[in-house]
Amino acid sequence: MKTQVDTENLKEFNEKTFADQADFKDKNILCIDCGQDFVWSVGEQAFFRDKGLTNPPKRCKDCKHAKNERIASIAAAQAAGVKQRIEVAVHCAKCQSYTTVPFYPSQGRPVLCRSCYLEKHPTLINGNFNK
Ligand SMILES: [Zn+2]
Ligand SMILES: [Zn+2]
Repeated sequence: MKTQVDTENLKEFNEKTFADQADFKDKNILCIDCGQDFVWSVGEQAFFRDKGLTNPPKRCKDCKHAKNERIASIAAAQAAGVKQRIEVAVHCAKCQSYTTVPFYPSQGRPVLCRSCYLEKHPTLINGNFNK
């Protein structure tokens, strides 16, 4: 029984396949970010093939660059320990007015608006005045 792979045929198949793939043409692709046509050049297609990538690019160079910068700036902010500014909408536990606080109120703890909070803690105002 012959179990050996027919290497000659395989070689021919590969050459044929690569010959087909080598017949690249510039392609126009619609960028998913800006909606503009951009050219996926022959050189870039060959680069993608060499990298083993099968999906064409989704973004034009500008948008790809912008996206990379966004990711880089987020990563840099995280690395630097910068926290996203948060604003949580709450109702004041005392006067029921609508206010926002820069933190997530813990469960069951009443949240006061700024004026009610200062009313309850007058020392804070005095402390500021004394400075
Ligand atoms: Zn774009
Ligand atoms: Zn209040």
